[in-house]
Amino acid sequence: MYDRPPTPRRTTGFGTCDDCGRRVLYALTDKHRRIIAIDPDPDPAGNQAVSVKEQTYWTRQLTLDRPRAEDREVLRKPHFASCPTARAKAAARRRTPHRANFGVRPVRWQR
Ligand SMILES: [Zn+2]
Repeated sequence: MYDRPPTPRRTTGFGTCDDCGRRVLYALTDKHRRIIAIDPDPDPAGNQAVSVKEQTYWTRQLTLDRPRAEDREVLRKPHFASCPTARAKAAARRRTPHRANFGVRPVRWQR
């Protein structure tokens, strides 16, 4: 088993998740200019405010000073929260902590 090298995505819009194959919406984060996968269905409880400008999907994470959807923004949820594969990967990482594999760091009671 091997991991495919991640192909950096350059375009936004509807597509499928590389991990689980579900329909997602790829959008560029306004803060970090990074393309992330978002669940395509609008969700009023979501924390991503998605808007389209010049055929590019942008997403803005809700913040305390701008806590709700503004002009032309639609709230959605980030896909990693519902992606079964991303969840399984995160769980696998928790089961095999890198520290245990690589570290020789003493645990607290040895110091
Ligand atoms: Zn997925």
